[in-house]
Amino acid sequence: MSNSTFSEIAQALREHASFIIMSHVRPDGDAIGSQLALGHALEEMGKTVYYYNEDGLPENLAFLPHSERITQPQGEVLDVDVAIALDCANKPRLGDNALKAASQAKLWINMDHHKSNPGYGDLNYIDSGSPATGQILYDFITAEGLPLSEVTRDAIYVAVSTDTGSFQYSGTTVATYEMAADLVRRGLNVGEINAKTYDSHPYRRVELTRRLLNTLVMAEDGRIADWQLVYATKEELQLKPEDSEGLIDMIRAIEGVEVAVFFEELKDGTIRVSMRSKNPSIDVCEVAKLFGGGGHTLAAGIRAEGTLDGIRDAVLAELRKRVDAC
Ligand code: 5GP
Ligand code: MN
Ligand code: MN
Repeated sequence: MSNSTFSEIAQALREHASFIIMSHVRPDGDAIGSQLALGHALEEMGKTVYYYNEDGLPENLAFLPHSERITQPQGEVLDVDVAIALDCANKPRLGDNALKAASQAKLWINMDHHKSNPGYGDLNYIDSGSPATGQILYDFITAEGLPLSEVTRDAIYVAVSTDTGSFQYSGTTVATYEMAADLVRRGLNVGEINAKTYDSHPYRRVELTRRLLNTLVMAEDGRIADWQLVYATKEELQLKPEDSEGLIDMIRAIEGVEVAVFFEELKDGTIRVSMRSKNPSIDVCEVAKLFGGGGHTLAAGIRAEGTLDGIRDAVLAELRKRVDAC
């Protein structure tokens, strides 16, 4: 797979009239922010845009301007020219209903920063050196002179801020800080947007943290930390999928921890695994791929069939091998 150029992608956008923009299931800030950023640029160009996400808009991102336009597909098929997939490592991760909604599109555009992305679009732009899809879109929009409205500005900031752990992770580059400076120059209100992103958690998230801490296990001399969430607790606390977003950073941040893992039972009986590494020679994406997942070297995930204990044993065994080897 080789990338298309920004100008080839911009040309395709200019030549078509209607678009469905999608991102991955259980969307995070980069997924929703990227959809809104590019979608609003297209709207400013006079295009018709549908914003679809298989799981709809998470409550914690509903403060983003224009986010009310994010629709959860119900089995309909849209009559659109182009399908755009953002921040989504593979096509199935868009979700069945979203794929159905996009099934009549004549052209697929895929822009992403996951290194496991095979390039499933007709036009692809995959840059695993970029810490967020939102940063790729900033580069694209500014390079091609596309409209950068206030909606797009705020959406890009939240996309990049959330995927870089508030501009902290090692993937954060000079270009990231220069981008942030430019967004502030364009009028972004840093205090307000960060408060809405990080200081507005529902109380149940604290209760969830308490439960997770009770399950914390430190292994391999404190180099691997994991915690888990069973479905019964989710029901009891009336949790939403986004309530656990970012909590893994708490155990990732423990001194001496090289790998942090979060195991979660989903309603359909499958297990979601979220992994973080602090050591570039422990590639959690490689471990994720063994179980059908993917992601980045230092942050990856899996969704697998099985029991929580069974998946946990298997994933921790693979991680132990890698931790022991370095
Ligand atoms: P998180 O742990 O925050 O859910 O995900 C970490 C990274 O791994 C994200 O970039 C996410 O897109 C990717 N990821 C998470 N779960 C999966 C999965 O089931 N399959 C694939 N291919 N990637 C995943
Ligand atoms: Mn994402
Ligand atoms: Mn991302």
